[in-house]
Amino acid sequence: MTDTATETTGTEELLSDLRAWLSDNWDPDLTVAQWWERLGLAGWAAPGLPPNAYGKGMARSDTVLVHQEVGKFGALGPPAGLGLLLAAPTIAAHGTQEQIDRYVRDIVTGQKAWCQLFSEPQAGSDLAGLQTRAVRDGDEWVVNGQKVWTSGGQYADLGMLLARTDPEVPKHQGISYFAFEMLQDGVDVRPLKEMTGHALFNEVFLTDARVADSALIGGLNNGWAAANTTLMNERAGLGSGGGSAAGGGLAQPGTVMGFLSKRVGDVVAPPAAAGVAGKSDSRTQQPGGALGAMRGGAGLLIGLAQSRGVNGDAGVRQDLARLYTLGEIGRFNGLRMKAVKEQGGDIPGMPNVAKLSMSQIVRLTRDLGLRISGPAGMLHAYDSDDKAALKHATGDPFAGGITEMALFAQAPPIYGGTDQVQRNIIGERVLGLPKEPNNDRVTPFSELPKNA
Ligand SMILES: Cc1cc2nc3c(=O)[nH]c(=O)nc-3n(C[C@H](O)[C@H](O)[C@H](O)COP(=O)(O)OP(=O)(O)OC[C@H]3O[C@@H](n4cnc5c(N)ncnc54)[C@H](O)[C@@H]3O)c2cc1C
Repeated sequence: MTDTATETTGTEELLSDLRAWLSDNWDPDLTVAQWWERLGLAGWAAPGLPPNAYGKGMARSDTVLVHQEVGKFGALGPPAGLGLLLAAPTIAAHGTQEQIDRYVRDIVTGQKAWCQLFSEPQAGSDLAGLQTRAVRDGDEWVVNGQKVWTSGGQYADLGMLLARTDPEVPKHQGISYFAFEMLQDGVDVRPLKEMTGHALFNEVFLTDARVADSALIGGLNNGWAAANTTLMNERAGLGSGGGSAAGGGLAQPGTVMGFLSKRVGDVVAPPAAAGVAGKSDSRTQQPGGALGAMRGGAGLLIGLAQSRGVNGDAGVRQDLARLYTLGEIGRFNGLRMKAVKEQGGDIPGMPNVAKLSMSQIVRLTRDLGLRISGPAGMLHAYDSDDKAALKHATGDPFAGGITEMALFAQAPPIYGGTDQVQRNIIGERVLGLPKEPNNDRVTPFSELPKNA
């Protein structure tokens, strides 16, 4: 096992290299695009990626420290979102070097924003039951079907598309994974409004949309393997708190949001505020946004309990201690995983355990936050004017924020695979328990019964 002293020295060296690099390179007068190009090509936007994919091959726990350090320095953090979190590591693992240079470069430099076109109305937990079809037409594929819950689809340049390319084989074997251009005829993105007031996710209708054969990631009918890499990164990222890809500012990647040509000094958060998630503008809201705020839960809620004078309440204190403990266990598990990986090992199921633990943190933060807030926790504002009015009327800087977190708390235990699905995976793949009996793995997809 790596001893703590070595680990601390390695991490300190890394952070001091980063600080030196930031001193030489950070310039608030650059455009966002110019800054992200510097950050991304130097390997600091996604240091967890391998060196041939614009990274530095760092452990996940170190990448979180890197992003925090960029925020503390007062520079704009890496381009947040699903490109960096999911598409880049998947393409780095399954794509050719030509695909890495075509897609990952644009992700780490923030040129392109991505969404995840996996879930369908009849295929969420049973993702391999997806029915969107891709049919070959020369050097291209023609895609028809419907996706749903597509986070950020309305702002994405590209999507990680799972489509069925062979219905005559068992369901896991006939799926392919494409880097799919969103900005084309045949793609109809319709935002879905949530009870938070934001429209984070969308329905996406695909009608004779096209994707090039050269955009096939990981080979024909091998999409399930690539999809699993995406899902493992999603669970590990969400579980470790990296889901928001630590922003440190308000800029979002891609050609649709319009941040690339802005002066970077105008969009970076001041160092004191960097890392505070849960921004009020729905255009900047990512799955990790409210989640990031929930993960800062113990510190945030201790402050709230003190300001409300309930920090002496034994029940509140006990739950605050539980919340803090869960956060610390998550942090220690991250360090444990790093140490084991440095020895060439692995801890099977750890991303699933991390995601389950995150769900627990989210629910506890919701319940405790509302309990501390009292009746004010029932008040919610849907736009920035109402938010300001609510804060003014209550004299409470937290007003609305806790409620927004509580309303969003239903989501994290669902996305990236529900709690029940995480438990199934741990049971079957880690503990070796028998699978539920079914014939999915042998029967051609076309012969399986389907919902209407
Ligand atoms: C905020 C948010 C953002 C999302 N973003 C995206 C995105 O960007 N891209 C994308 O592709 N998808 C996204 N999703 C979709 C998400 O991955 C699915 O909602 C999730 O996989 C569950 O699928 P479902 O909603 O179809 O529920 P279902 O699969 O229908 O599940 C319904 C219930 O049945 C339970 N269940 C199902 N199967 C089993 C089983 N075998 N054993 C035990 N219990 C079971 C589930 O746990 C759940 O409680 C997002 C979801 C949310 C909430």
